[in-house]
Amino acid sequence: MMKPITICAVILSISTLFLFSCKDQAKKASFKNIKTVADLTQHSLEFSKRVEKVTDGVYVAIGYGLANSILLEGDDGVIIVDTMESIETATDVRNAFKQITQKPIKAIIYTHNHADHVFGASAFTDGRHIPVYAHITTSSYIDRLINILRPIITKRSMRMFGNFLDADGLVNAGIGPKLCINKDSVIGVVRPTRTFEDTLTDEIAGIRFTMVHAPGETPDQIFIWLPDKKVLLPGDNIYKTFPNLYTIRGTQYRDVTKWVQSLDKMRALRPDYLVPSHTGPVSGSKKIYKILTDYRDAIAYVHDQTIRGMNMGLTPDELAVTVHLPPLLAKSPYLQEFYGTVEWSVRSIFDGNLGWFDGNPTTLFPLSPLEHAKQMANLAGGETKLQNQAETAFNDKQYQWVLELTDHLLRLNPKNQKAIDLRVKSLIALGENQSNPNARHYYLTCAAELGQGLAIQQLGKPTEEMVHSLPMKGFFDSLAVNLDAEKSADMNLIVGFIFPDSGENYTVHVRRGVAEIQPRLMKNLDITVTVPSTIWKEMLAKLRNPITTIATDFDIEGGKIRFLKFMALFSPEYEQS
Ligand SMILES: [Zn+2]
Repeated sequence: MMKPITICAVILSISTLFLFSCKDQAKKASFKNIKTVADLTQHSLEFSKRVEKVTDGVYVAIGYGLANSILLEGDDGVIIVDTMESIETATDVRNAFKQITQKPIKAIIYTHNHADHVFGASAFTDGRHIPVYAHITTSSYIDRLINILRPIITKRSMRMFGNFLDADGLVNAGIGPKLCINKDSVIGVVRPTRTFEDTLTDEIAGIRFTMVHAPGETPDQIFIWLPDKKVLLPGDNIYKTFPNLYTIRGTQYRDVTKWVQSLDKMRALRPDYLVPSHTGPVSGSKKIYKILTDYRDAIAYVHDQTIRGMNMGLTPDELAVTVHLPPLLAKSPYLQEFYGTVEWSVRSIFDGNLGWFDGNPTTLFPLSPLEHAKQMANLAGGETKLQNQAETAFNDKQYQWVLELTDHLLRLNPKNQKAIDLRVKSLIALGENQSNPNARHYYLTCAAELGQGLAIQQLGKPTEEMVHSLPMKGFFDSLAVNLDAEKSADMNLIVGFIFPDSGENYTVHVRRGVAEIQPRLMKNLDITVTVPSTIWKEMLAKLRNPITTIATDFDIEGGKIRFLKFMALFSPEYEQS
């Protein structure tokens, strides 16, 4: 059994780990045209916890976590498509699948890199080396998700998924009941072993399947086609809400034109069964064709009309209030704005095609936020009068305007308690009335952060194997983006790393606030460090105390104190106390 370790903080940030366990939900939903929070509550029925038989040999587990997991049963074994967000939820699913068949798991397929599809994988392998299929780029996206980037994406994910909210705040997560990871959960990604670029056809346990690269919700997205049963597994390129053409947790541009093309490839197959990785399956060729057509038309409409407006010179703010789905598409149960929204999509399409500059010369060099706040206070006749305006706006239920005014007030005085109170109450009012879960959770979580001092923590415990399996490059990439530019402004230091167990070498050259990383030993090293790669990775993952580990497990030429000072440039925890 793999031993869980704690991995957290500066160097490794797990970006989507959450707090609550899942509960069973009630029966399946019938469609309503959702505009109110009551309808969001009704939408929870979509995720009633169950394993649904789609057709012979095809089963889908729904409501166990944020995503579905799909069981394909063959002659003498099974394939698992998508593996949940943690080992706990994956084990729950696996136990449910065992009620259907005891046949051994012979392969895993990831539809894409997102945490809710890959973090539970090792619950299905029992440490065995079974084939793991994915797109050729999926590993690199998993690594980015895990090891470098962004405490900020973690924080924004937690706000968006509402994991710090109670059941009144978190009705459901739009595409699933909730992301089911708590601080004690263990995650275990198994790295893909069978990858492809465009398409790959294979056969496992008598199941013939074709995987097709289908960029959309992610650039590495694939769909899986079972020709013998006419079953289509579209991954996250379609689910029963308006697609997340942009995600507010933060993402690179999602290429919506490619997304439409991917949906067209799926339509051309004329599937009899559609089994998405979120929300329930659909049967019936005609019905599925209409759903896929509506979906691709909606994405194409938003894209095309945004571009048309851009060419007329409209700005993102202007486009956001002018582009709306036409009535027939707006009625589709698959296009209700429970996850993505048209407005956010419009802004993303503008940004993805023209970048941040909206074309208005006013925004070339805008006033700094503080100067803007000062000018707003002047305009109002002073800070007190600006605050009076905010109070009036709150009493008039103009909550968005309260947010904009309190932005200024809190820039002028971050401790302005009256402004804080007005802002918190407005965030709650906006959240409570918001039927888009992502926006709802974001408002309510920000209210708790500001009003109750909620501190969002990074959570999660990857397995030791998972930490060791992460490529060394990611650990060094993470160093570069954690460099303290002020402390290293006048420094010129070259440190070489030798990892005898893996045969890898790296050099970090810190100069003038930049860390150049090279995957080899450079000349003229000031310090040379020799250490097993596993110990280095565990230390950066905070499994090991850095000071004692460096003292006992590192062979250092060039001075241990000097090396500790070097490490402290990336994290203050390396300072000797
Ligand atoms: Zn997903």
